[in-house]
Parts: sequence; C-alpha cells; structure tokens
Amino acid sequence: MNAPQPLGLSPSFGFGDRLGVATPGHVASMRRAGSGIAPIFAQQSIREMTRTQRSPQQVMDDALSGAKESGWDSAQGADADHLKTPQDVDRTAAAGFCFFTIDPSDHVDKDTDADVVAWVDSYRGKLVKLSTGTTITIDDSTVANARRKYGGAVSQAIALAKHIDSVMRAKGRDYEIELSVDETPQPTTLAEHFMIADQCLKAGMKLVSLAPRFIGEFEKGVDYKGDLAALEKSLNDHAAIAKQLGPYKLSLHSGSDKLSIYPAFARATRGLFHVKTAGTSYLEALRAVLRHDLDLFRRIVEFARERYDTDKATYHVSATLASTPPPAGMSAINLEKAYLERWEDVKGTRGFTAPARQILHTTFGSVLTNEQFKSQLMQILREHPQTYRDILDEHFSRHLNALRAGM
Ligand SMILES: [Zn+2]
Repeated sequence: MNAPQPLGLSPSFGFGDRLGVATPGHVASMRRAGSGIAPIFAQQSIREMTRTQRSPQQVMDDALSGAKESGWDSAQGADADHLKTPQDVDRTAAAGFCFFTIDPSDHVDKDTDADVVAWVDSYRGKLVKLSTGTTITIDDSTVANARRKYGGAVSQAIALAKHIDSVMRAKGRDYEIELSVDETPQPTTLAEHFMIADQCLKAGMKLVSLAPRFIGEFEKGVDYKGDLAALEKSLNDHAAIAKQLGPYKLSLHSGSDKLSIYPAFARATRGLFHVKTAGTSYLEALRAVLRHDLDLFRRIVEFARERYDTDKATYHVSATLASTPPPAGMSAINLEKAYLERWEDVKGTRGFTAPARQILHTTFGSVLTNEQFKSQLMQILREHPQTYRDILDEHFSRHLNALRAGM
C-alpha cells in the first residue's frame, strides 16, 4: 500500500471517519466508482479530534490499516483539516499528513494594519476579466471591505503556510495546502476570492485548493438549499478564477448529502475539484445501529435530543426539537425516515432532506465521549462489519456517481 501523498490537481474526495472503522466501506465505494477521483481516507479536523478524543496518529493509523486490509493500492492523500495554529501543524505533520487545510476563520472580520499597502495598491481600480465573460470590478470600497474582512485572515494563513513549509522541508516531505474560508456567514464574493488567493499565491503558498463560502445554504446533514442555477453560474466564475490564478482546485466543504449540486460542481470546475465530507459516515454508523439494536438507537436519539440545543452552537443547522418527533413509540421504519431519511428519489439526484439528521449530526461529540454509548456502538460495528461496509458503499457510491455525472 502507498503512503499518503499529495494528490495535486487530480479530482479528489475526502472521506472523514470519526470512528476509525469506516475506511473499508469508503474503499468499497471507490472501487465501485472506478478510477478518475482520488481518495483521502485519513481526514479529520482538529475540532473533531478534540470532540472524539482521538489523536492525529490514531486517525492516520485507523485509515491506513483500513485501506491496507481492503487492499487499496492506488494513491491516497491525508488531510489535516481546519488547522488554526502552528501546534496543529506540528502534531499532524508528525503523524504523516501531507494535505494541510488552513482555516483562518478566527481572524476574519478582525481589522488589521497588515499589508494595507499591498492590498490597496495592487487591486484598486483593477478589472479582472474571466473566461466565463464575467468581469470583476474592484473599486476603492471593494478593496477596503475585503481587506477589513479578510486582511487579518490572509496574514494568518500566510504565516501558517510558512510554518508548514519549514516543518515539511525539515522532514524532506512533499505537501500541499488548502485554504478554507467556508465557515463564514457571508458568501465569498468573486472579488474577495480573487484578492485572497492572489495574496496567498504571491506569498508563495503551495495552494492546491481553496474553499470559498458559496452562495445558498450548506446546512449540515441535509441537501443544498438555494437556487441551483444561480449557484452554477457562481461556481463557473469561482472556477474560472481558480484556473486563471492557479490553477488550483475549488473545494466544497460540508459536502456530504448535497448530491443535487454535485453534477454542477464537477461541470463548473472541469474536474479541478475537491469535495469534503465528514459527519456523514458517523450518521451511517447509526443506521447500522438501528438495523441491529433498535433500542440502542432510540436511546442515542433521546440523548442527542437532550444535548442538541447546547451542541448545535458551532453548526449551521435549522432543525428544532419542536419540529422533530421524539423517538418514544416510533417504529424502526418511521425512526429511520425521521432521523436518517433515505434518498429522496431513486436516481440519487437529491440527497437527504430529513431535518432531524442534524440533531444526530451535531451531537456526535457528546455521544462518542459517553463511554457506554461509544462502547455499545463500536461493538455493533465490530460484530457486523459487513452491514456498515455495505451501507457506506451504497452511500458514497451515490456521492461519487453524482460527481462523475458532471465530469
Ligand atoms: Zn470546512
């Protein structure tokens, strides 16, 4: 089996795995989809590692042993996701990660004096003509607003990229960087995307992909909410910037379950894409629990409902306890429908729409740090590896096929 390596500009797909046993199912879906998209099995954000009490080394070891045992012998990447500090870099680099996702969102909207001259002088009055026919006009207020919003974040990202470079140089290992600004309330404008990426590239960042905050709603656990035609137009323009300045890939975060936008995403980027999923493999593990131990599933749902109003704080979700049914007395079929709804149509062009999935999605940390739930859940997955593998195989085959439909 190959050690994780940078995947460069190949289209790629990130499978997050919070439990450490999902990789065989991920591999099965990759095999079924055929070649053309490169996988990242080892992928976890620092926030997820904290919430699941796993170390970067454990995440790496679990993914690599799952890939090995499934006979995966093609290339694979390894994504140290949503890094914020030099310590995050040191820990993940030591475990063998080579795709570093920088998340400077804590510095967004914090005004800074950094590089005022560089921003204002290089962009004021600039007209950027894109291959789509769109022209980005950057006037005084555009550049001032972008610098106020992203100036500090860009400086922070560049500093972290320099740290990554020195750490990886010392190890003599190749690497690549993704920049994510997806976790902001406001969509990233074309002008902002252009200036952010241009600053990073001029500073020598090894940028392989960039995750803007796209238009519409990217809520966790459900399909895209928004105007598909408007999104596709905007994706075309963002992709044109990425091609013109880089090329680098456009990256889609919170990508799981958003099947309705996959063909457009693959089309707009012409294969220069990365898609990231994370929590969905945990939700599918709960489906395996429902199949084999309905009572445990019901208790997890009850516990998740108790935790939801607290745990949802850092997430973009809209489900409420009042608008979703309490599990007591519900049949297995109705529980699955309400909390883990299957695809909306048989062709798989729409993803999940059950809002109660968000209650299970946001409470994974509470469930997995509860000793009893964690050990019972893991026991079911260990006793029924085929169930979990088949569920994941089907789940991700739908994702990969929807992407391939646009390639
Ligand atoms: Zn993200």
